[in-house]
Amino acid sequence: MSNVQTPVQHVPAKTTKSIKLVDEAQAKTNLLGMTQAQLAEYFKGIGEKPFRSTQVIKWIYQQGVTDFEQMTNLSKSLRDKLSANACVIPPKVIHRQYSDDGTRKWVFEVTGGSLVETVLIPADDSKLNGRKTLCISSQVGCALDCSFCSTGKQGFERDLTAAEILGQLWVANASYMTNENDSLDNVDHSLWENNVTNVVMMGMGEPLLNYRPVVSSMELMLSDHAYGLSKRRVTLSTSGVVPKMYELAQELDVALAISLHAPNDELRNELVPINKKYPLEQLMAAARNYVFEVNPRHKKHVTIEYVMLDGVNDSNEHAEQLVALLGDLPSKINLIPFNPFPHANYDKSSNNRIHAFSNILSEAGFVCTIRQTRGDDIDAACGQLVGQVADRTRRSAAWQQSIKDREDI
Ligand code: SF4
Repeated sequence: MSNVQTPVQHVPAKTTKSIKLVDEAQAKTNLLGMTQAQLAEYFKGIGEKPFRSTQVIKWIYQQGVTDFEQMTNLSKSLRDKLSANACVIPPKVIHRQYSDDGTRKWVFEVTGGSLVETVLIPADDSKLNGRKTLCISSQVGCALDCSFCSTGKQGFERDLTAAEILGQLWVANASYMTNENDSLDNVDHSLWENNVTNVVMMGMGEPLLNYRPVVSSMELMLSDHAYGLSKRRVTLSTSGVVPKMYELAQELDVALAISLHAPNDELRNELVPINKKYPLEQLMAAARNYVFEVNPRHKKHVTIEYVMLDGVNDSNEHAEQLVALLGDLPSKINLIPFNPFPHANYDKSSNNRIHAFSNILSEAGFVCTIRQTRGDDIDAACGQLVGQVADRTRRSAAWQQSIKDREDI
C-alpha cells in the first residue's frame, strides 16, 4: 500500500491500429460482447457455418484483433462480408492514468456521452504471482442509493451493453498487446508481463440489475475460446438482488461477493436501502443456496464486503452480530476503510477500531482482511472510490472538459 503521493502519468488516449475508436456500431453489428451462441447465430444468419464463431472469438479476445482483414484463417470472401456488415468496437478510451505502484485507470466515454471508469490493480506481490485485478462497471450510475456511496448519489442513468462491459476488459488486455507502456519511464514494466488475471464486477452499478449483459460478459471471461479465466477469479458483487442471486446460481458458477455493510436489518435498511425489499434473512438464504445447493462439490465461499463507518457500523457489538449472522456460511470478510467524498455524511473508522473489529471476526474463525488502497496517486480503487470518480463524471462538467482537453494535447 502506498500512502505517498507519487507522480501521475496522464496519457492522452490515442487511436492505435488495434484499438478502433470510430463509432461504426450504429451502421454495423458490433461483435464485441456476443457470446459464442449469439455469434454462431449471427454467422448462421449471414449464411456461414456456426463454427466460424470460435475462430472469430479467438481473434478478438486472445489476439486483440479488431480488423477482420487480419483474421487470416477466414476466407477472403468472409472477411469482406464481415468488414461490410460487422465491427469490433470497444468503448472509447478518453483518458488513461498510470500509478507508480502499477495501478492503471481508464476513463471510457460510452454511447450517449456518459463516462465510465475501470481500474486495474496489481497485487503488492504481483511480481511473485502475477495477479492483476480489473474492477469493471456494469451500469452508468446506480439506482440503489446506498447512503455511503457517491455513485448512488448521482442516480441511475443507463445499463451498459455487453460490448461496453466486456470492452473494459478488452481494452485492459489490449494495453499489453500494444506498446503503450514504452513511453512510461517510471512504471515498473515487470508488473505488466501478463494479461488481467482476475475480474471483479464491483465498479459502478448493481450488476444483477443488468443481468443478461453481465452474464454474457462473464461467460466470455470464462470461455476457453475467449479469456479462459478461472471461475474462482471472476467475482460478481451484489448488494442483494435476491431473485437474481438464485437465477445466477443456476446459470453460471462464478465467485460471489455481497456488499453487506451492516449486520442487522435496521441499520442495513438505512445504509443499503434494497434491504427493505430483500431483508437479511432472504439475503443470507440466497447466499447459502449459492454456496451449498448449487455445484456443492466446489469448495466455495462468499466474500462479505463491509465498509467501516465511524460510529455507525463499527462497534464490537456490530462485529458480534456479524459473526452470528454469517454462522456457518463459508465467508471471507473484507473490511473497507471508508473513503470520504464531498457531502458524505460519514467518516472513516480509526485504524484501531478497524483492527478491533477484525480481531473479533478472526477469533470467531473467519478469514478477515482489511482492504489496502492502491493507486492513491490516481484516485483509483474498486467500489466506493470508483464511485467517487464516476460521481465527478456526472457532476463536474469542468472535469469532463479537462479530460477532453488533455486528449487534445
Ligand atoms: S454501493 Fe453499489 S449498489 Fe450501492 S449505490 Fe453504490 S454502486 Fe449502487
